[in-house]
Amino acid sequence: MIFNIITIFPGFFDGPFNHTLIKRASERDIIGINIIDLRDYTEDKHHTVDDAPYGGGSGMVMKPEPFYKAYDDLVESGRLRKHSPVVYLSPTGRRLTQTVVHQYAVVDEILFLCGRYEGVDQRVIDGLVTDEISIGDYVISGGELAAMVMIEAITRVLPGAISKEESFIEDSFFSGLLDYPHYTRPPEYRNMKVPDVLLSGDHKEIEKWRRNRALELTKERRPDLLDIDDD
Ligand code: SAM
Repeated sequence: MIFNIITIFPGFFDGPFNHTLIKRASERDIIGINIIDLRDYTEDKHHTVDDAPYGGGSGMVMKPEPFYKAYDDLVESGRLRKHSPVVYLSPTGRRLTQTVVHQYAVVDEILFLCGRYEGVDQRVIDGLVTDEISIGDYVISGGELAAMVMIEAITRVLPGAISKEESFIEDSFFSGLLDYPHYTRPPEYRNMKVPDVLLSGDHKEIEKWRRNRALELTKERRPDLLDIDDD
């Protein structure tokens, strides 16, 4: 899986992509990451990527030309296939869920466009973008963190990216339920005891307890997940 990212802050990704999961997955060639500096596709000496909005109002809008130039260059140089998904991270997009993560985990490559300021000129969305994705109902300052969230979530479910011990199969949402509570040693800490059943060695009962706790937690905190219909 190749992740291409167009951003005005290429250095933003240095830390998170050089640790643990993403680093390991890159080293094992499970994923490849190409970071493209949008300012390389500007033509003025200030490398301008934004301009004032038509119609007035506050904030700046990201200009269309650098995005189109960057996209054309990626395609013409063979670094991106023409029909690969192009995802614009945006609060107005459809919500990122585990279902969406699995939809993207089967493609070969994705191009992410990271917005800044008030966002991108609508013609970038109309002409280049195949999907708009939001990481939640709140606004952050740029698409970089949102792209990282999506890349990390996709990478976790790629074959070989995480070890069996870290298996995502029991994670929240994978089964449609929230995760059950976890305990490790010691059996008692500050008067808080590990539930007896987990110390019993009875795997059937442990399985039952975990399933019930997961169900209870989901009913209590996210009853919407128990509705059958999910995109
Ligand atoms: N004016 C936009 C709005 O109200 O929807 C917000 C723009 S935001 C300050 C700048 C950029 O951050 C966006 O273009 C987008 O790329 C990114 N962004 C902010 N919140 C996001 C979210 N919840 N999910 C995905 N991307 C987000």
